Amino acid sequence: MERPVILWFKRDLRVQDHPALHHAARLGPIIPLYIVEPDLWAEPDASGRQYAFVRDCLESLREDLAGLGLELVLRVGDAVAVLEDLRARHKVAHLVSHEETGNLWSYARDRRVAAWARGQGVRWHERPQSGVVRRLGNRDVWQGARDGFMRTPVLGPPEGARGLVLATDDLPSDESLGLSDFCPLRQKGGRGAALRALESFLTTRGERYQRAMSSPLDGARACSRISPHLAFGTLSLREAVQAGAAAPGGRGPDWARAMRSFQARLAWRDHFMQKLEDEPEIERRCLHPAYEGLRPRDADAARLAAWSRGETGLPFVDACMRSLLATGWLNFRMRSMLMAVASYHLWLDWRSTGPVLARAFTDYEPGIHWPQVQMQSGTTGMNTIRIYNPVKQGLDQDPTGEFTRRWLPELHGVPDAYLQRPWDWPEADRLLGRGYPAPIVDPVAAARAAREAVWACRRAHRGDERTAQIVRRHASRKRPRRARPKAVSAQLSLDL
Ligand SMILES: Cc1cc2nc3c(=O)[nH]c(=O)nc-3n(C[C@H](O)[C@H](O)[C@H](O)COP(=O)(O)OP(=O)(O)OC[C@H]3O[C@@H](n4cnc5c(N)ncnc54)[C@H](O)[C@@H]3O)c2cc1C
Repeated sequence: MERPVILWFKRDLRVQDHPALHHAARLGPIIPLYIVEPDLWAEPDASGRQYAFVRDCLESLREDLAGLGLELVLRVGDAVAVLEDLRARHKVAHLVSHEETGNLWSYARDRRVAAWARGQGVRWHERPQSGVVRRLGNRDVWQGARDGFMRTPVLGPPEGARGLVLATDDLPSDESLGLSDFCPLRQKGGRGAALRALESFLTTRGERYQRAMSSPLDGARACSRISPHLAFGTLSLREAVQAGAAAPGGRGPDWARAMRSFQARLAWRDHFMQKLEDEPEIERRCLHPAYEGLRPRDADAARLAAWSRGETGLPFVDACMRSLLATGWLNFRMRSMLMAVASYHLWLDWRSTGPVLARAFTDYEPGIHWPQVQMQSGTTGMNTIRIYNPVKQGLDQDPTGEFTRRWLPELHGVPDAYLQRPWDWPEADRLLGRGYPAPIVDPVAAARAAREAVWACRRAHRGDERTAQIVRRHASRKRPRRARPKAVSAQLSLDL
């Protein structure tokens, strides 16, 4: 009798362009498994909005698998216990999955799974699904490897896959996982939503990408919005890269610039994820150890709470945070500013604020998130220190005040000239401390103090061996280039 193969779906909830599914189909009859791991969802970076997105994705995955004659098996519990139960009952010989560059929790879990597989004589086949290279010895060869992967053909769903039909658990409720979250405007998950986002971006919305990506009002439409789909794998990165390369040209310089910029960002994704793949501990410790003691490890509770709720008294910061809490998304510049204000003006350690943002992002992707959080906090010892002025950002990015007033209705009556600094408004007494808080810090003085402290640390360590080591290891000698893939496969075009 042929022994079954477990295909373990992780952050790859699709059947298209799924190298692991193809591999499993060649090995034998498949048990297509998704494990809801309560301990994963109890981690401080997990949230109800992410779980709701995953639920959408599982529904669509179930339908797509049914189209291939396979039935999704859902199990709730510890991964090793679930895998062992299936092995013992069904004499499983192979476990197949994609390599995962996840958080430290999933890294530790994968090590336990690897030990279990070795101990039970189960062969675990892990396949890459992006440009991240496992056990990369030399960063100089990374770009070529990444581009090479992106040029390989997008895979359609496997043909002739056979599966086992097994009992399946119900999806646990949010409450039973301890998740409570209210995100009324979050993006919907599932393959259909992923393809609609990509297609509308590559045919129409992308036109204003370059010009509007940093606008808090227009960015939500001008950006691709594929991030949660890439994070949970309803779309593969290779599909996005190849579809972008095949998008019809001849639409003027704006369009060409937009598509170049989109490809560059897709390359940045792999570039950052490779950092976490190489050094998973950067989720918990500063990339440069000299910055460990820079800020107090115990966060100032009042500042942390005010920032997390969008109640700092700095209008543009609060509007961005409240928008993020309600929608689960924010553009890159606004994410950077939120993080920088927390780390510099409020002088909060990134380990207390990073999880707050992670939970708020439907698209939370550890491999992008933690390197970005550290970069925007100045703890890498090598990147440019960017201390955004939140008043200036508000004036530049929201000149009419429409975005700020939308999320802070209590500032409705404040004249434009004072909207981003209501404390200077002659009638501020009517507002501050009543409908809206007084600023939690003086933004100018706080930025100055932070700049001095961070630069003092940087000067003290400039040129030392540890700094040189970090630069050698993490700074790409060239900016990551976009891949030049062949035309997109017919599969993706048909799906669209
Ligand atoms: C502090 C901070 C935390 C962040 N955390 C996350 C996160 O958890 N998950 C996440 O997907 N992105 C994160 N980003 C990067 C970026 O803000 C988002 O990828 C982007 O806003 C998602 O929207 P989009 O899909 O419309 O992006 P687009 O601009 O349309 O870009 C397309 C894709 O390229 C990738 N990308 C874009 N910008 C970057 C970047 N700067 N670095 C790496 N990859 C990029 C993403 O996968 C994105 O979906 C973070 C940025 C900062 C400053």
